[in-house]
Amino acid sequence: MKHSCVNLLSLSVFLSLLMAVNGCQQTEEQKSGEYAPERNNAELSATDLHFSNDLLDSIELTEIEAESAEIQNPDHIHVLVNDDHVLPDSYTPDDLTVPDVRFSFDEELDRRLMREEAAEALEQLFRAADAAEQELFAVSGYRSYERQEQLFTAAVNEHGEETARETSAAPGSSEHQTGLAMDVSSRSNDLLLNTDFADTDEGQWVEEHAHEHGFVIRYPEGEEDLTGITFEPWHLRYVGEDAAEELDNSGLTLEELIEKTREYQDGPG
Ligand SMILES: [Zn+2]
Repeated sequence: MKHSCVNLLSLSVFLSLLMAVNGCQQTEEQKSGEYAPERNNAELSATDLHFSNDLLDSIELTEIEAESAEIQNPDHIHVLVNDDHVLPDSYTPDDLTVPDVRFSFDEELDRRLMREEAAEALEQLFRAADAAEQELFAVSGYRSYERQEQLFTAAVNEHGEETARETSAAPGSSEHQTGLAMDVSSRSNDLLLNTDFADTDEGQWVEEHAHEHGFVIRYPEGEEDLTGITFEPWHLRYVGEDAAEELDNSGLTLEELIEKTREYQDGPG
């Protein structure tokens, strides 16, 4: 969770409990499934992960500066952003625009913004939701490095560094800085960003249909070890329709797609 607009303390307590419970269940599921994700991506082998060669050919790998983990090509729509792949503090996408969708607030704030391609896809997603009588609200999109720094510092001051790192993204490691992410909610969830959204009609519709418009639920339940972020059913990340489709079908994460691409593009030797 990395949002100041929710009650971080109660949320983090709730999530800790949730993770304690789900952690055990997930281990059982992963043991019984044919695919068992490993925290160490180097251990993933080609046979564990299934993506089409067309997709793997189409991805431009996220390149990082080894010493700083700073991303060198942040404009690519498949860019991987996490604690090990950090956006430059100077990075601001140059095609930010306001999608024509329903927002949870009236003010003209930066958090309305998304990159052009993602904004168009979000408009499609919202139109499809409207047609299915699911009223979605956009809550939080683009967030600058400086804004993330303020939020993270506030979280550290309030809860200490350890808890802050679990519940809030450090500056540079938030996907919101890419302009490719949007948090969504519904009236049925009081427009809040919390895991209850997953149980609403709107949240279930999003889970089923987001990929049709190029979005994935970037931080799925039970994948905290891979993504570093607890379950966020409200956080939609634009990756384009092809990647979204295959991530949805496989149930794999962007971390795994990028790792697989690296193996594939590097070739067998
Ligand atoms: Zn988010």
